[in-house]
This record gives sequence, structure tokens and C-alpha cells, in this order.
Amino acid sequence: MHPTSHHPSIPPAHVNAEGQLAGFVHSFDTGAAVDGPGIRFTLFVSGCQFHCLYCHNPDTWHLHNGQLMTVDEVLKELKKYAHFLQFSGGLTISGGEPLMQADFVGEIFRRAKQELKLHTALDTQGFLAAHLPDDWFDSVDLVLLDIKQMNPEKHKTLTGQDLQPSLDFALRLSTMKKKMWIRYVLVPGYTDDPADIDALATFVDQLSGVERIDVLPFHKMGESKWLELNMDYRLSDVQPPAQQSIDWVTHKLTLPINSSITRCVKQS
Ligand code: SF4
Repeated sequence: MHPTSHHPSIPPAHVNAEGQLAGFVHSFDTGAAVDGPGIRFTLFVSGCQFHCLYCHNPDTWHLHNGQLMTVDEVLKELKKYAHFLQFSGGLTISGGEPLMQADFVGEIFRRAKQELKLHTALDTQGFLAAHLPDDWFDSVDLVLLDIKQMNPEKHKTLTGQDLQPSLDFALRLSTMKKKMWIRYVLVPGYTDDPADIDALATFVDQLSGVERIDVLPFHKMGESKWLELNMDYRLSDVQPPAQQSIDWVTHKLTLPINSSITRCVKQS
């Protein structure tokens, strides 16, 4: 385990009354087929520094909204599915933003690999990754990296945070020869400017280790959660992207900039 609590950007690790490492868990999904290769056990943890305008899970933003669980409790749950996951998929940790609880998440990954021999995937926007040492990622087989926008100002409008840490993390993963899937949410009027798509294609072209790019069409399934939380959902009038737009972005991102990349579009 790598203690991260000394760094002010990553909240201190939690320990329960017995001194066991614990973290705030939003939920599990035991049949997910979209968060990495095969069938995934996806653990959604609480806490996120981004406030994406389209976020489907704004109830995960606050760390303490989750249920406090020890690493042992999570492993116990995961073990129920381990034999199946060993040959059919693996563990994905998503959120929220998993790096908000880097000690907790890192320990789950380490034990899932060592004790359960599972394939592991980290779903992150990478904002806090600079605060973690390279070997924190030794137990992570695949990084699902969300790049929200390629224009720094638009990124700030969309997420409330700076773009550069996500890009720095992508470059670092490339240097580390870590496998990556890039994920990009296509939102009309917010992320579909041709210049921004070109910038993303150019950026990804310089990375090694990118196995796939997922273009995720914006939809409003999260709107009801915003309303339940009395939060102002600013994308009410934004429609999902037209198929023509999805096809165009897919085309731009699937240009043969790296023939080893398998790119696809998910319609969900
Ligand atoms: S990074 Fe993910 S969890 Fe965080 S606000 Fe954006 S969409 Fe929501």
C-alpha cells in the first residue's frame, strides 16, 4: 500500500475502529459488459472533483455519500464472483473518481490481482494521478481514461476543472506502456466542435498503448438524479447527438493514425 494521505489533494485514507483500511462505496454492478473486456464486477466508489454537466451519477460527487466498507468486506463480495470473473472478465473500479480514495482502491486492486488473479481496470479522469507513484499502477491492467474535452476553457466549463492533468496522465501511461482505452462523451454544443475532435485525434496519435477509443453519445438518463438532488441540470435542452454526428466523430477518430488501435463506438 502506498500512503497518500500526506498529500492535500487526495483525502486521507479511512480506517475503521479496528484499524482496517476502508473506503466509501456507492454501489456494485455485477454484470457490466461495458467497463472493460468481458464481464466486469464494477465497484463504484464515491467522491469526484469534477462536476461534469452531463454526469449520470451526481450522487457520487460527495465522498461521504457512500457506504463505508473495509477492503476485506469488498474482497469478500468480490470473491463470490471470482471464479467466473477469472475467465470471463474481471474487476473494474469506477465512480465517482476512484483516485479520490487511492489507498483504498489501490489495496483492492493489489489483492484482487494477488489473491484472486483477476484482470483489473481503473476508470478515471486522471486528475489526481500525478500524486501517485508509478508502482501504484502495477496492479492495474487497463486504464479507462476519460478525456472530457481537448480545449482547456471548454473543459473547465464542462467539468469545473483543468484539462492538463488528464493529458499529463495519458502521456505518463504511454511512457509506462500501460494499456488504455480512451473514452469521450459526445455532447452537442459542448464536445462536438471539429477542432476539438481533431485535437483529440492528434493527441491520441502520439500515445502508445491505446487499444480502443469509445465515443459515448450524450444522453439525459442522469437528469432525474440532478432534479432529485435539487441541482440545476443545465443540459435539459441539449439533445443526444445525431447519428450523422456520431459517425463523423467516429470517422475522425478512426483515421489510420495508429493501425494497431481498435476503435469502436458504443451506442449506449
Ligand atoms: S468525472 Fe465522472 S463522476 Fe466525476 S463528475 Fe464527471 S462524469 Fe461525474
